[in-house]
Amino acid sequence: MTLTPNNPRLLTPGPLTTSHETKEAMLHDWGSRDQNFIDMNRQVRDRLLAIANASDTHVCVPLQGSGTFVVEAAICTLIPSDGKALILINGAYGRRMVKILEYVGRSYVILETPEDQPPSIDVLDQTLMDDPEISHVLTVHCETTSGILNPVEEIARTVKAHDRFMIIDAMSAFGAIALDAAKIPFDALMASSNKCLEGVPGMGFALIRESVLAECEGNAHSLSLDLYDQWQAMEINSQWRFTPPTHVIAAFDAAMKQFEAEGGVVGRHKRYSRNCRILIDGMRELGFKTLLSDNLQAPIIVTFKMPADPAFDFEVFYNHVKESGYVLYPGKLTVAPSFRIGCIGHLDAEDMYAALAAIRKILADMGVKNGAPAAT
Ligand SMILES: *Cc1c(COP(=O)(O)O)cnc(C)c1O
Repeated sequence: MTLTPNNPRLLTPGPLTTSHETKEAMLHDWGSRDQNFIDMNRQVRDRLLAIANASDTHVCVPLQGSGTFVVEAAICTLIPSDGKALILINGAYGRRMVKILEYVGRSYVILETPEDQPPSIDVLDQTLMDDPEISHVLTVHCETTSGILNPVEEIARTVKAHDRFMIIDAMSAFGAIALDAAKIPFDALMASSNKCLEGVPGMGFALIRESVLAECEGNAHSLSLDLYDQWQAMEINSQWRFTPPTHVIAAFDAAMKQFEAEGGVVGRHKRYSRNCRILIDGMRELGFKTLLSDNLQAPIIVTFKMPADPAFDFEVFYNHVKESGYVLYPGKLTVAPSFRIGCIGHLDAEDMYAALAAIRKILADMGVKNGAPAAT
């Protein structure tokens, strides 16, 4: 699709740029009881399990809504009213899970680290040792707030060594960063249609260990968010309980075929890593500094510190970049004034080079000599 100010490339963490093929897959109306739709739904669910190598152990339960809906649904379905959660926080999505726990009235404790630091495995180990009441541990795979990659494998192994349940918000990583159920023993993982799998927004899904979900009847306080009920109903007749997001599923089906053609997680990781490398190298050439060191950086979204040059004004910069066809993402970090640029979605090296060229020109027009932040 031609790049124009009204039809920009989204350098954001979702919704994100989708392919023409994916958009085109929505030019049809499906009845929810239509066999073609039922087959498509089944295939989407099976493919999602296969991506995590979880077909034999887990079930895929889809849910209407944005990613947060399925996070809330998984939390209220999996954690019983007498359960206790431990949330590992280093950004807004960890904090959002705390807010959900407040709403659903489950007890919890937190382990928080700054947005540019992963949780400490030793502290996690000690916390689980000291508090046998903690039943479930919640973590975020890639914390989209900063773009930090959390060590989910070590976290999950530690949680399992203490025989607790492991729940992972893998929203912004699933499909681009390998997460194999045989290596990372998770009980539930949540993600959505509109992030690294490059579908359109409208549904989330949870991959849940079947033996765990089977014990979850009656936990949820909400009918529409009850993943046990959603799963049971779908098991019986392969249909959704309530109106399914038919067009979203059709687009997701098309997006997943493209994902497989690209080489699955390996192929997608390769393209996003290249996008990320080009972006970071190009921005560093302009003097910008990333919040995270390269070893903590996931190839999903990059946080850049705000330049100190007095000629720089983020509002003006953002608007000019948008006019040239690229949408950036303002930061909402507490550790440093910053902004973010995503490298996921239907974007390739050429898009990243073109975005960098636009950024370079806009900075020059603004009279910004250097993107370096204030010395700390
Ligand atoms: C995008 C995202 C979500 C879900 O956000 P929605 O706006 O509800 O789709 C949850 N967790 C993480 C880590 C995310 O990146």
